[in-house]
Amino acid sequence: QELISKLENTIENIADFPIPGIQFKDISPIFLDPQLYEEVIEDLVAFSKGKIDAVCGIESRGYLFGIAIAVALQVPFILIRKKGKLPPPLVSEKYDLEYGSAEIETRKGQIKKGQRILIHDDLLATGGTTEAAAKLVKKQGAKVVQFSFLIGLKDLKGEERLKRFNAEIYHTLE
Ligand code: IMP
Repeated sequence: QELISKLENTIENIADFPIPGIQFKDISPIFLDPQLYEEVIEDLVAFSKGKIDAVCGIESRGYLFGIAIAVALQVPFILIRKKGKLPPPLVSEKYDLEYGSAEIETRKGQIKKGQRILIHDDLLATGGTTEAAAKLVKKQGAKVVQFSFLIGLKDLKGEERLKRFNAEIYHTLE
């Protein structure tokens, strides 16, 4: 609870960025405070400890915490990247955005069949990106057992969208 109030005082809310009507949460001030960063990692690690075989982090802010979770738990970390950033061979997944579509990719062979996977990102909004990541993981024969986020925005129904994967969902902050 102390952690939550520290985070609330640290994360900046910026109105009308990147477009009018959007309230943007900027997590970058967390990285100015290494002790706070460590507490965030401890919180996310406690959720996943003993339950996962690998962490998949979503580009790009999902890497900032995801890799630290993986190192703390001594499990592999796999980068899920936007199309065009990783060299072949790849496995990819297309998904719809509000306008148009996007595609995410992992290097083929990095996710192993039967692995219990944590999918991590900094923030859950509509859940569109995370849902595509979960499909990408399942396609490779692994099991999505957990989703974690630093922030889960309640009003955008992201959690409802992820329910069908029957995985645990955790966010440090609302
Ligand atoms: P979703 O696919 O709608 O759930 O959007 C989640 C993705 O958008 C995550 O990768 C976030 O990093 C990013 N995102 C959406 N809104 C914000 C915000 O207010 N602050 C930081 N990142 C955001």
